[in-house]
Amino acid sequence: MAKNTTEVYLSLGSNMGDRMAHLSSAKEKLMNHPKINISEESKIYETEPWPQNHPEKEEGQLWFLNSVIKVKTGLNPDELLLFIQSVESDLGRTEKGHWGSREIDIDILLYGQEVIESDHLTIPHRHMTDRHFVLVPLVELSPELKDPVSGKAYKTILQSLSDKHKVIPFF
Ligand code: AMP
Repeated sequence: MAKNTTEVYLSLGSNMGDRMAHLSSAKEKLMNHPKINISEESKIYETEPWPQNHPEKEEGQLWFLNSVIKVKTGLNPDELLLFIQSVESDLGRTEKGHWGSREIDIDILLYGQEVIESDHLTIPHRHMTDRHFVLVPLVELSPELKDPVSGKAYKTILQSLSDKHKVIPFF
C-alpha cells in the first residue's frame, strides 16, 4: 500500500442473523481492499440497542455486537464511505431506517484529525460521543485519543456519559 495513508477508526455493528459472521465478513472485505489495512481491533461487545426511547425505533430489537477497528487507508473520506456502503449492501443490508435492525452497520468515526461536514458525511461521527457502544471499544483501543473538535479525551467524555446503555464484553 502507498505510504500516504491516514489512520481511521471505524465502528462495526450487527443485530440480525449471525452477528459474528457479519462482523467477520465485513472485516474480511475491508482487509481485501488494496488500499485498506486493518491495524488493530477492539474486543467485540454485546450492546443494548440505543437509544432506548427513540420514536422511530422498532419494538423488541435484538442486542447488537459492536466493535471498533483502526485501519490505515489510502482512500479519501468519500471513497471510503462509498466502499463501506458497498460492503454493507454486499452483506445484505437493506434500508430499514436510521434506527432499525441491521445485518451490518459501518460508520466512519474518525479520519485522521480531519473535521468534515458535508451533506453526506460528518466526521467525527455525529453521534459517537453519545454512545457507550462506540466509546468503550474506542477507548480500549486508544486510551489517549482526543476529539479533534473539542480537544477532550474520549475517555473523559465516556466517564461523563449519563445514558448507561449496557455494553458487555462478548469475545
Ligand atoms: P446509518 O443508517 O447510520 O448507516 O447512516 C448512513 C448515512 O449516514 C449515510 O447516508 C451516510 O452518508 C451518512 N453519514 C454521515 N456521516 C457518516 C459517517 N461518519 N460514517 C458513515 N455514514 C455517515
